[in-house]
Amino acid sequence: MTAHLIDGAAVARDLKSSLAVRRHDGVGLATILVGDDYGSKAYEARLRRLAGELGVPYFPQVLPATATQSELSTVVSGLNAREDVSGILLLRPLPRHIDEAALFRVIAPEKDIEAVHPENAGLLALGVPRFVPSTAASVFQLLDTWLDEAGEDRADFYHHAQIVVVGRSNNVGKPCVCLGYARQAAVASVDEWASRTGALQRHTRRADVLIVAAGRAGLITAEHVKPGAIVLDVGINPVTDERGRVRMTGDVDFSSVAEVARAITPVPGGVGPVTDVWLLRNTVLAAEAPRLEEVS
Ligand code: NAP
Repeated sequence: MTAHLIDGAAVARDLKSSLAVRRHDGVGLATILVGDDYGSKAYEARLRRLAGELGVPYFPQVLPATATQSELSTVVSGLNAREDVSGILLLRPLPRHIDEAALFRVIAPEKDIEAVHPENAGLLALGVPRFVPSTAASVFQLLDTWLDEAGEDRADFYHHAQIVVVGRSNNVGKPCVCLGYARQAAVASVDEWASRTGALQRHTRRADVLIVAAGRAGLITAEHVKPGAIVLDVGINPVTDERGRVRMTGDVDFSSVAEVARAITPVPGGVGPVTDVWLLRNTVLAAEAPRLEEVS
């Protein structure tokens, strides 16, 4: 391996200790899990542990996959009204019969710590976010930290960088694009059509920074990566090994890409740990005086 390893666990530790010294009055995290998606359950369990570690009151809501739109709206409205809940996270994916966008609109914007309500998504797109969504925040926190450690001038780096984001979901890909814009980088984003039309490699080979959030194990191999690029792997894909054990793997074929990249995040141990802490950070911020964040 020739690439530097970007250590998410170390960055998460620093972020965690900066949170531990903050007051927690009025702070509370509520998660809503509908059904039994493997990834959502694993994420919920991590948040439960982390909230406990940081002393943040935690209120998990678990509903069956058969829950109706109106039942879910009632749960969200109830959490909106609670004074001990400062942040609400709706775990995805939701069952197919649920209108996700309609449910996002029910979350009180000041408790919408993942910025999924149109008001918060709009503020993010305008460059004045109330909350920076946790996964995109994690990607750029890792990148900023690594650039500092590598002795790069951040502003100069971004002004010359081409960032390519693979995947353009509302919760990960698009917020990453917004944070790239905020750094005055050139940003391009591609979705599944790039793969279907055979154009994926042409786009990804242009990237100085390649952010991959497609949810497809091993999608990106060494041939997709410009030598010297920085690669951030957001994907978390459960794969079952020959012994029937489930383990998590990324969207990037780590061993081949690590031979050509300048720096790379592992899965697990890269973007994920920082995302978790960032969500708790947003929960704490939500309980503090309402204010809009600087884009960072
Ligand atoms: P999503 O809502 O399913 O969106 C996936 C995006 O990737 C879509 O835009 C899709 O294109 C695109 N895509 C799918 N296959 C592709 C391909 N072969 N080539 C290019 N683009 C492709 O997923 P998500 O919520 O953004 O999550 C993405 C991955 O990140 C998942 O593995 C998820 O588990 C993981 N994740 C990790 C963290 C973390 O903290 N590490 C946090 C959140 C999510 P279309 O728009 O055309 O469908």
